[in-house]
Amino acid sequence: MSTFKAPRGTYDLIPPVSATYLAVREAIAAPLRRSGYGYVETPGFENVELFARGVGESTDIVTKEMYTLTTKGGDQLALRPEGTASVLRAALEANLHKAGSLPVKLWYSGSYYRYERPQKGRYRHFSQVGAEAIGAEDPALDAELILLAHDAYRSLGLRNFRILLNSLGDSECRPVYRAALQEFLRGLDLDEDTRSRIEINPLRVLDDKRDAVQKQLTGVPLLRDHLCDACRAYHAEVRELISAQGVTFEDDPKLVRGLDYYTRTTFEFVHDGLGSQSAVGGGGRYDGLSEMIGGPALPSVGWALGVDRTVLALEAEGIALDLPEATSVFAVPLGEEARKILFGVVAELRAAGIATDFAYGGKGLKAAMKAANRSGARYAIVAGERDFAEGVVQLKDMESGEQTPVPLDKVVPTLRTKLA
Ligand code: ATP
Ligand code: MG
Repeated sequence: MSTFKAPRGTYDLIPPVSATYLAVREAIAAPLRRSGYGYVETPGFENVELFARGVGESTDIVTKEMYTLTTKGGDQLALRPEGTASVLRAALEANLHKAGSLPVKLWYSGSYYRYERPQKGRYRHFSQVGAEAIGAEDPALDAELILLAHDAYRSLGLRNFRILLNSLGDSECRPVYRAALQEFLRGLDLDEDTRSRIEINPLRVLDDKRDAVQKQLTGVPLLRDHLCDACRAYHAEVRELISAQGVTFEDDPKLVRGLDYYTRTTFEFVHDGLGSQSAVGGGGRYDGLSEMIGGPALPSVGWALGVDRTVLALEAEGIALDLPEATSVFAVPLGEEARKILFGVVAELRAAGIATDFAYGGKGLKAAMKAANRSGARYAIVAGERDFAEGVVQLKDMESGEQTPVPLDKVVPTLRTKLA
């Protein structure tokens, strides 16, 4: 072991478990790829101001969780704590909203950084796959995103997750509600921190996880009773479109995202096997965000799903993904001359698209066959000088143990047929 360890709150993805992470990312991306979302990749760090404005000065992410740094050149940067602000920044910078028709639909996958108290399902470096649909106000778009996340989880075999849904209203109805909420909250017995939250970000108080706070919230005014007609109709249509696909959800009138530029549809995917870190993904509409970061009005909606917690959800449900073995064929040379010839056969197999590995390091037959076993390969090809003199290799079926000679020029087609 080296003297170094992964920093607190981080962990390494190593084989074989790392294959599950790749498969989860791929499973979340697949429904997006076939729904018109293009891949976007942005830097791991941004100007700190982008997140201050684009995530919100009063959020936990910005006040407590952000990794900030000053470069030698004096730039104030932050490691990205989330994806939406960066993706919108990139879309605006590239003028994607002017180049083609709206919405601009993008998906991303990457690492995110938050200085949090590490615990199961909560890390300082974690991984998300996300989607953003920029520049359209259409309930079908909100419904599409919710359904695509649902499809992704279902394609992984997950069952014990729930969709929580709410509407946050818009610039017309929310301010009225906000004032009513503040008035109610000011009458409660709350600590200093929470009292100041009432003034800055009162919706966040609804989301407080503490029992002592939740108890006092009985009878709190709820936004769903204050929605304007337009928001009410919009929300009804989102719900209708999701239900029509046979997908169920729960109305959660206290679900918030807490910032002024988050509007209307808001949702969370929770998994019941994860204890207190139950949110596997979340998202919503952010009609005001573009203007907050200096862009034109571009009503948008998106989500981010946590890869780490999705993997934990698979474990909680006892789901082992059906992953193909990394290696199909393992080549074992017997002797120096055979090594050179078989090395060429390996290259041929790989060129034919067959995942092949080789016994490196001059191992004896026994150790080499052990390596073949470990690799998970379905077949081994074993060959020594005598075999090559006869123009064959021995093809060993790793399941049955059966071994048959195959002419050198038939190795690729034979294995292709057998593996098909
Ligand atoms: P939480 O309430 O659990 O802190 P959040 O509201 O901060 O979650 P989002 O910003 O909506 O989370 O991020 C979307 C998803 O990313 C979450 O649902 C979760 O799966 C994942 N996620 C967020 N923070 C972490 C973290 N520190 N470690 C692992 N996954 C995370
Ligand atoms: Mg958080």
